[in-house]
Amino acid sequence: MQVTRELFNDVMVPNYNPSEVIPVRGKGSRVWDQNGKEFIDFAGGIAVNCLGHCHPALVNALKEQGEKIWHLSNVMTNEPALRLAKKLTDATFADKVYFANSGAEANEAALKLARRWALDVHGEQKNQIIAFNKGFHGRTFFTVTVGGQAAYSDGFGPKPAAVDHCDYNDLAAFEALISDNTCAVMMEPLQGEGGIISPTNEFIKGVRALCDKHNALLIFDEVQTGVGRTGDLYAYQGLGVTPDILTTAKALGGGFPIGAMITTASIAEHLKVGTHGSTYGGNPLACAVAEAAFDTVNTEEVLAGVKEREQLLRDGFAAINDKYDVFSEVRGKGLLLGAVLNSKFEGRARDFLVASTKHGLMSLVAGTNVVRFTPSLVIPLEDIKEGLARFEKAVADVVNG
Ligand SMILES: *Cc1c(COP(=O)(O)O)cnc(C)c1O
Repeated sequence: MQVTRELFNDVMVPNYNPSEVIPVRGKGSRVWDQNGKEFIDFAGGIAVNCLGHCHPALVNALKEQGEKIWHLSNVMTNEPALRLAKKLTDATFADKVYFANSGAEANEAALKLARRWALDVHGEQKNQIIAFNKGFHGRTFFTVTVGGQAAYSDGFGPKPAAVDHCDYNDLAAFEALISDNTCAVMMEPLQGEGGIISPTNEFIKGVRALCDKHNALLIFDEVQTGVGRTGDLYAYQGLGVTPDILTTAKALGGGFPIGAMITTASIAEHLKVGTHGSTYGGNPLACAVAEAAFDTVNTEEVLAGVKEREQLLRDGFAAINDKYDVFSEVRGKGLLLGAVLNSKFEGRARDFLVASTKHGLMSLVAGTNVVRFTPSLVIPLEDIKEGLARFEKAVADVVNG
């Protein structure tokens, strides 16, 4: 069968508009398409491929588990799931883990748990969920409603109720919204999809303090920031603010679908037998790969390497900007970076992405005004240099029309 980009239009629902390129092979941070054209990968499958493509530790874990046992369901537990849960709880504030298959599902579990906790402990009036404008939490109907872009949740009929939003980094607006009827606050500890926006120290500490004052649970959505992305294992550890519930997905599986919600023992106990579940959650293949990814990322060497790579990228973007004057700032943390276009190039992030693809570089956007980069946490330094050289050509193309 001839597989072409045109086939996408024939057989796929039109909710995406993928690039013309169809990658067929990857190794580390290099990818090749159907025509053998090579790309440097600064996108990492949207912050998923934390160890690049086909990392030997992940390939081995998948092969080994693939010859042992594939699936059991939640009627029986399994060794990889228990090992991974133990490692997640040992490395974080959490005591308990719920496995899902994606970020949205992990968030769905977090929101349902928060609502159930509030009902059990405080009564049904405590049901308000507060989240932030531009936040992103996934595409299930509950999570997309909690997300801060009405455009993504409008047009599907009545939405889950008692969900309110205010601006990120606006502590006064948040303080005006929260009350004893707030059951949970869901936020990214660094907004990804919304444009790579870091919280101010005052804001993140203030949110925690107001949650404590009003007995509301603080849920950190670390689906994008987690598993080494910001240079800490989880971003909360670098902020000095601990949530009550944390969700993790994307890099957790290094490219194999998995998500998890982790929390304390006293909150977890409200997710009693039968209250929630997932057929594939805790699947042995997914957990075996995630365990290998977790073991590889959760080392001094890899986490320190993230900071070193961040600096290399920042220096490279600064040099390109000195020449072409296209960015107003480069923001973010670790290997979750956003180059914000200045007023001359306002709204043209996609043009930079398209030009990058042409020059053999995979990049991302975050909204219309930010070019986003989320490469592998172990991308070789020479691939960073080569990727920056290709990005410079792309920038020159856009600047010269
Ligand atoms: C990607 C993302 C999600 C959604 O994850 P899926 O696996 O696509 O469901 C949720 N929250 C954040 C912060 C994300 O970046």
